[in-house]
Amino acid sequence: MAKILVIDDDEDFRKMIRILLELNKYTVETAEDGYKGLEKIKNGEYDLILLDVMMPGMTGIDVCYAIRIKNPEIPIVLLTAKGEKEDLVTGINAGANDYITKPFETEVLLAKIKSLIRLKELQDELKRTNKLLENLATTDGLTGIYNHRFFYEKLNEEFERSKRYNSFLSLIMFDFDFFKKINDRYGHVVGDSVLVEMSKIVLSNIRKNDIFARYGGEEFVLLLPHTNALGAIHEAERIRKAIESHHFQHIEKRGDVTISLGIVTFPSKYINQPEDMVKLADAALYEAKRLGRNRAVHYEDMEKSNINVQ
Ligand code: GH3
Ligand code: MG
Ligand code: MG
Repeated sequence: MAKILVIDDDEDFRKMIRILLELNKYTVETAEDGYKGLEKIKNGEYDLILLDVMMPGMTGIDVCYAIRIKNPEIPIVLLTAKGEKEDLVTGINAGANDYITKPFETEVLLAKIKSLIRLKELQDELKRTNKLLENLATTDGLTGIYNHRFFYEKLNEEFERSKRYNSFLSLIMFDFDFFKKINDRYGHVVGDSVLVEMSKIVLSNIRKNDIFARYGGEEFVLLLPHTNALGAIHEAERIRKAIESHHFQHIEKRGDVTISLGIVTFPSKYINQPEDMVKLADAALYEAKRLGRNRAVHYEDMEKSNINVQ
């Protein structure tokens, strides 16, 4: 049932309008001045505000402006006396949706209320649909984490931010070890459930600002803003251990599922653009595989060891 707030200093009017609206199946609350009305709006949710223009203290126009600061969408209908035409224009400019002149015909008021509430419902529905579409476009269907596309969007954003503010940005790329064997032994469905379970473990091990995404197949990325090489290595190790020590459902024993991780940190002389981070993290991941899997390798360490070998 739609909820309406009536803000009017005239007590008899408040009583009368309450009866009228309740008879028409609305829930009604009232406030005797602008301050009390704003307080109610702050603490409650209303589908429409009926607002008297002429009130002592704060006028309806002031209230209208104040509502719109935080509430751009809630429908507001101004109640004006005859001959307050200028107030009316100011009121609409202040963000009111419609007005009605006292004394009014009840059918007209009810029709206006009905259409504005319907409009608000449609707007809310549109917002929900947009949110849903946005989620579909940015998340991975299997694991519910971010997808490849969203990851690149964030990588570009965070890369620019790190450059501008001179802050660290790390990237961890990881891939399951011998995942093909897991699929071969337990079937693809169990393989999928391992990916889902792993995603939950990783999500519970990362910070709020970290961006965790499925890069593709059984390959995942973790973007860590404000994180230097040491911090990223710690985080990678923590995740590696969490996976290694977890007993996945349907999998024979703990330790049968492991991952290898490649890490890279910006700024670095090897990185000029966002894509370089992906390339280098991938190279470090490849090195982790080569060294025996179930380990994390930072690109810079790999470079150092290469230099030592030469
Ligand atoms: P390595 O340690 O070298 O990474 O070995 P691997 O077997 O994990 O690597 P490989 O690239 O040979 O095989 C990856 C396997 O992951 C093959 C593919 O079918 C499987 N895979 C990729 N995406 C999914 C998925 O969404 N679900 C399941 N169940 N398997 C997947
Ligand atoms: Mg693999
Ligand atoms: Mg792979």
